[in-house]
Amino acid sequence: MSKVLMIGAGGVATVAAHKIVENKEVFSELVIASRTLSRCEELVAKIQGQGVKVSARQVDADNVPELVALIRELKPDLVMNLALPYQDLHIMDACLETKTDYLDTANYEPEDTAHFEYKWQWAYQDRFKEAGITALLGSGFDPGVCSVFCAYALKHHFDEIHTIDILDCNGGDHGYPFATNFNPEINIREVSANGRYWENDEWVETKPMEIKREYHFEEVGKKDMYLLYHEEEESLIQTMPGLKRIRFFMTFGESYLTHLRCLENVGMTSIEPIDFEGQQIVPLQFLKAVLPDPASLGPRTKGKTNIGCIFTGIKDGKEKSYRLFNICDHQEAYRETGAQAVSYTTGVPAMIGASMLVQGLWKKPGVYTVEHFDPDPFMADLNRFGLPWQEDLTPTLVP
Ligand code: NDP
Repeated sequence: MSKVLMIGAGGVATVAAHKIVENKEVFSELVIASRTLSRCEELVAKIQGQGVKVSARQVDADNVPELVALIRELKPDLVMNLALPYQDLHIMDACLETKTDYLDTANYEPEDTAHFEYKWQWAYQDRFKEAGITALLGSGFDPGVCSVFCAYALKHHFDEIHTIDILDCNGGDHGYPFATNFNPEINIREVSANGRYWENDEWVETKPMEIKREYHFEEVGKKDMYLLYHEEEESLIQTMPGLKRIRFFMTFGESYLTHLRCLENVGMTSIEPIDFEGQQIVPLQFLKAVLPDPASLGPRTKGKTNIGCIFTGIKDGKEKSYRLFNICDHQEAYRETGAQAVSYTTGVPAMIGASMLVQGLWKKPGVYTVEHFDPDPFMADLNRFGLPWQEDLTPTLVP
């Protein structure tokens, strides 16, 4: 039975906490620690009394000595980082110092450059190996489940995968003209960056939203989707042998894009600090403060997400295509956990990754993304804990 220290008490942490107390065979104790103690206490109040011991603590995860002291006092088997990508390296430092396993759902991004890649976290490889501890990176949906889908497709359906298209469709409607489904700062930084995909051994860069395609998503309908760069592409080009192309598409509605363009044009999405009446402010952080809190979207959001991967490649000398995906209903997710499907589809795999790690099924000293491990027990738990997957043996391909 395992004890987990969870950092963060936002949307994703809310779902992961609900799922940890549901998985009593694996977890015996959960401590939720975040910058704002009251949010941790509110979450504890919602999930206590279900057989797993839960409690709340305050911590600033950017303060490594403070975090080290908390880990030393609590002695958890695992630290789950469900705060923001800016905290990744600080929490990894604290895990190294206390020899504690680590898990996150998004790769490190320096606060001042709006640029994310794995190199900063992969630089911990030798130190984690020497310390005998595991870092499991990107155990959300994308990255996370989609990367496990890749490992599963390679294990059971292909001898070689040649192309992967990751399609992330959110058909949810929250009724606001403009709001983001998770942390606005992280979300807007991601979608306003240049696009990028990998083909024939090199990265091809695009302007933001330059490549648009249409796709029919089951239980959602026809949607426009746009090519973005996404972090799992960086690890999958290394872990999928024979891969010739990988792309990532996300759906956006016309209203979202029009608002985003306007906000960009007036400088509101910039991360360069400006002087405002004698005070330094970052426009994007100010924008975050005036936008609806993603946590408040839960009760209003209706519709479904449909996220997954389309593969083409070779099996037994023949060409083949295959698709794996999950459909998640915003209202059902909200009824169960008080958070909408974007948090749900991230929080459930965060719990499953934690379960794989603490049970020793995915334990391997070093720093690894999820596709490095046996996908089968993770795939079984997706069905068990609320994210059942479906497969299509004759998928429509994306041109
Ligand atoms: P929220 O903004 O809702 O929550 C973030 C939480 O982190 C808050 O509780 C916040 O505390 C806490 N926090 C921030 N800074 C610190 C700090 N220095 N010390 C301690 N706690 C801190 O974010 P989400 O729940 O939506 O997202 C969580 C993570 O999940 C993000 O990294 C996001 O990128 C990732 N994600 C991954 C996805 C995937 O599919 N892989 C999809 C969606 C999200 P406070 O309340 O005090 O601000």
